[in-house]
Amino acid sequence: MPKPIIAANWKMNKTLGEAVQFMEAIKESLPPVEQVDAVICAPHLFLERLTKAAEGLPVEIGAQNMYFEESGAFTGEVSPVMLKDLGVAYVIVGHSERRTIFGETDEWVNKKVRAALAHGLKPILCVGETLEERESGRTNDVVKTQVTLALKDVTAEEAKNVVIAYEPVWAIGTGKTASSQDANSVARFIRETVRDLYDPATADAVRIQYGGSVKPDNIKELLAESDIDGALVGGASLDPASFLKLLEATRNE
Ligand code: PGA
Repeated sequence: MPKPIIAANWKMNKTLGEAVQFMEAIKESLPPVEQVDAVICAPHLFLERLTKAAEGLPVEIGAQNMYFEESGAFTGEVSPVMLKDLGVAYVIVGHSERRTIFGETDEWVNKKVRAALAHGLKPILCVGETLEERESGRTNDVVKTQVTLALKDVTAEEAKNVVIAYEPVWAIGTGKTASSQDANSVARFIRETVRDLYDPATADAVRIQYGGSVKPDNIKELLAESDIDGALVGGASLDPASFLKLLEATRNE
């Protein structure tokens, strides 16, 4: 089984001062990098300070979005070159909030995944179905389409650096979690999709997270499943003690 990866998705929360305080609060208690890849995906404005604060600590910093071009007349956007220059390691791509509120298409998601990989950033590619899609039995179709389109023209070698976050839209920020069995069955299906697109070794190397109302009290059950290699966590990642508990849950008893 690959090394677990727990990523905080702070979304549009905290001030810079609060972000720095968070790092102060966790820095002595982070588990070793051999145990878990700990990632904090923060607003762009905090990334410079956070990458500096994370130097030498077993935690990496991620962005929550970026544009796919390297530079140019794209007012308000941030490029992969800028993120890499700051020492950012990961970037969330295709979060459902970006797809639904900001109209991101699968084509854009694909361009962002490829741009991230081309610049040595690891994409956390988010996929997941809406409640209506689930209730009409289309979960696997939706997820398969999202994964396939997002990985178009991505090589097997590159795909190994992609983290896929399965986030059912109806479970995000709602307090409703998919049962660990349901989450795992979609995670397994995602792995099969990657296997069909590439090969078994690539499918085994790709890490698949579950996201959607993950909390310290339900994470262990999710991580115990065969195909869930970590979690992408919004609300429960904002408090330092809660984030540390999420990381701690990856420890083998
Ligand atoms: P949540 O958010 O943990 O608050 O449900 C997860 C996410 O959107 O990544």
